[in-house]
Amino acid sequence: MKTPISLFDVGKLFLFRMIFKYKETALCFCLVFSVFGGLCLSSAVWAADQPSQELRKFFGTLEQQNVRYGWQDIKPDRIPWEYHRTSKNNHPLIFAHFGKPSGNCILFLGGVHGDELPAVYLMFKLAHYIKDHPEIVQDKCIVIAPLVNPDGYLAPLPTRVNAAGVDINRNFPTKRWHPDAHRQWLEKGKNNRRYYPGPKAASEQETLFQVALIKRFKPQKILSAHSPLNFFDYDGPSSNLNSFEQWMEKISKEANHPLKKFGYYPGSLGNYAGHERNIFTLTLELPTSDPKLGGEYFRKFQPAFLKFINLPVTGTPPFTRLLKSDKS
Ligand SMILES: [Zn+2]
Repeated sequence: MKTPISLFDVGKLFLFRMIFKYKETALCFCLVFSVFGGLCLSSAVWAADQPSQELRKFFGTLEQQNVRYGWQDIKPDRIPWEYHRTSKNNHPLIFAHFGKPSGNCILFLGGVHGDELPAVYLMFKLAHYIKDHPEIVQDKCIVIAPLVNPDGYLAPLPTRVNAAGVDINRNFPTKRWHPDAHRQWLEKGKNNRRYYPGPKAASEQETLFQVALIKRFKPQKILSAHSPLNFFDYDGPSSNLNSFEQWMEKISKEANHPLKKFGYYPGSLGNYAGHERNIFTLTLELPTSDPKLGGEYFRKFQPAFLKFINLPVTGTPPFTRLLKSDKS
């Protein structure tokens, strides 16, 4: 005998089918989500892994140079480097940031000219030194970009200019770059390719890299290491020039290294940072470009580096000033 189906039974059947249907949908959704999520996760891991692979390859290349130059105490993989852009030949433009996230910041630059070899050593060595002595950066921030022009440095015969043939220290976007840079290069540089300022201001990744560091960290002080002109040179806030000059004279005597007012060029760091932005900008020209003398130069200039780090400067550029002249 057939049992009549009540409205209650129809309701139960409908509910069961709905649950089953949604179970199916939920199962499908979970399946799609996990496949899609898995793909996303694996691509995120791949993306995060990519820079370290690039860096590892770059470190390998640098290690070969270190062996060649006798710089066994430089270990690029021991420093927490950061990079956001690469050179024309795809080398990472690296920098390390120590201490406070912002304020009271000092920027160190090396290897702006790729054939000035001991300048590169000095900045890598300084990065090791700061890492091993964290007390130095307790109340300040130190940023070190040891190799601004890796393409010039890693060329079979290292070059002053970058892979595009541009002198990075003539390529900063200074106010009168456009009327002056090419004219001055042709007149004073006698058309020398070593000083070519580039097709336009800030045309090069290496220039944009330094500009980005200056904009991000707002350093009050910058030290850029070069060779082989054998002097200290500086550009900075003109109202403080006297006291800074006195301080520089003292440092120059202590380091037994001449002080010279070299002036600045259209597109040079001294012009862009020191003259136009009132950042205390110190250029250290080492006596030679001999890579074997890197260790000797570091021992000679390390006290000056520490004194420059501790030179009391206040204010954010362009409103920087010396707190007091260092009489100690
Ligand atoms: Zn130089």
